[in-house]
Amino acid sequence: MIPPLNSYEPIVGGQVLDELRFLSEHLRGRRLQHINSTSAGGGVAEILNRMVPLLNELGLETRWDVIKGGEAFFQVTKKLHNALHGQPVDLTPQNYRVFLETNAQNLKNIPLDGDAIFIHDPQPAALIQAKPRHGAKWIWRCHIDVSNPRWGAWRFIQKFVEQYDAAIFSAPQFSQHLPVRQFLISPSIDPLSDKNRELSEETIASVLHRLDIPRDKPLVTQISRFDALKDPLGVIEVFQSVRKTVDCRLVLAGGGASDDPEGAQVLAEVRTKAHGNPDIHVLELPPGSDVEINALQRASTVIVQKSIREGFGLTVSEALWKAKPVVASAVGGIPLQIVHQQTGLLCRNVASAALAIKQCLCDPAYAKRLGENGREHIRQNFLLMRHLKDYLLLLIALDHEGDVIHI
Ligand code: UDP
Repeated sequence: MIPPLNSYEPIVGGQVLDELRFLSEHLRGRRLQHINSTSAGGGVAEILNRMVPLLNELGLETRWDVIKGGEAFFQVTKKLHNALHGQPVDLTPQNYRVFLETNAQNLKNIPLDGDAIFIHDPQPAALIQAKPRHGAKWIWRCHIDVSNPRWGAWRFIQKFVEQYDAAIFSAPQFSQHLPVRQFLISPSIDPLSDKNRELSEETIASVLHRLDIPRDKPLVTQISRFDALKDPLGVIEVFQSVRKTVDCRLVLAGGGASDDPEGAQVLAEVRTKAHGNPDIHVLELPPGSDVEINALQRASTVIVQKSIREGFGLTVSEALWKAKPVVASAVGGIPLQIVHQQTGLLCRNVASAALAIKQCLCDPAYAKRLGENGREHIRQNFLLMRHLKDYLLLLIALDHEGDVIHI
C-alpha cells in the first residue's frame, strides 16, 4: 500500500506538495507509460514502484510495463550494460540479433498507449522502432553511467537513442553528444517506503536476530546486488585491512535482479573469499527484503559502497537518509550525494576506503556529523517529491518546445 501524497507533508513541507498539485493541473488526464526490464531488484524498479502510484494520484494516468526476455537476452543486455559502463566486453553480431529480436517480440506484446512513453535504460531501447506508428513523446531514461562507454556498444544504442524526443541522464557527466534534448534528473528515494521509513529499535533488533547477525561489535555494511561492478570482493579486502586494528563485523547483503544473470557466480566468489572468517556475514536477500535492508542499514555503524562503476547509487541515498556515515567510491552519481568530508567520505581504492572506515569507527562524533549532514542533503535533493516535480516539469517542457513557458 503506497501512502497518499499528503502523508509526505511532515517530511518535505506543504509547499512542496502544493507545487506538485499545481504542476500536475497542467497535465491532468495525460497518459504516461513506463517500460523497463525488471519489476524487482535494482534501482529502476525501486523508483517505479513508488512513483507510478503517486503519478496516478496526481491525475496522470500512468502504467508500468516490463519487457520479457529469455536467458540469452538478459546475458546480452548484461554484456551491453557492462560495455556501456566501459568494461571490455565482446559483443557479437549474434548478441545484437538476440537483442533486436527480443525487442521486436516485446513490441508485439506490450500495448503502447501512453501520450508520453518513458523507456528505461538500454534493454528496451529498441522499442523506439514503434514511434512512427505511435505518435507519443518518447523519452529515453538512462540510469547508467554512459560517459566512457565501449564505442561499439554505444554506437549500437545511440542509433536508437537518437530517435527519441528527449533523453534523461542522472548526472551531468553521464550525458552524451546527442541530437535530441537532454535533461538532467537525479533519481530519488521514498522516505515512507518500507526500505526507508523509521523503524523501532525492537524491529531492528528482531530483524538482526532473525538474520543471525550479532550486535556485539560495530557493523560495517554494504548492501548491493552481487555484481562485480559493486566490488564485493574489494569490500572484503577493505574489511580485512580495517579489522587489523579495529574490531568490527562486515555484512555483505544483497540479492539478484531478474535481468542480471551474473549474480550467482559473484555470490559464489564472495562466499569463497569470506569462508572461515566468522566476522564476515554474507546474506543472500530474497526480493522484497525491504524491512531487512532498512534494519541492516539502521543497525550499521558505517555503510560502504565500494562500486567500481555506478549509476546513481540509490543505496548511498538510502544510507545517508538514515543519517549513517557512508564511505563510497567517487564514481557515477555518488559524488552528487557525498560531498567529501561533509556528507560522507569518498574513497578511490582499498587503502583509502579502509582509512575512511577506521576514521568513522574511531571518531563517533565526526561520524555522527557526517551522517546528519548526509540526511539533510538527501532531504533537500534526492527525495521522491523532487523527482516527481522534475518529471512534471519535463512533460511541460516537452509540450512547449522552444516556447517561453508561463506556469
Ligand atoms: N536492493 C534490494 N535488494 C538487494 C540489493 C539492492 O532491494 O538485494 C535495492 C537497494 O536497496 C536499492 C536498489 O536495489 O534501492 C539498488 O539501486 P542502486 O542504484 O544502488 O544500484 P543498481 O542495483 O540499480 O545498480
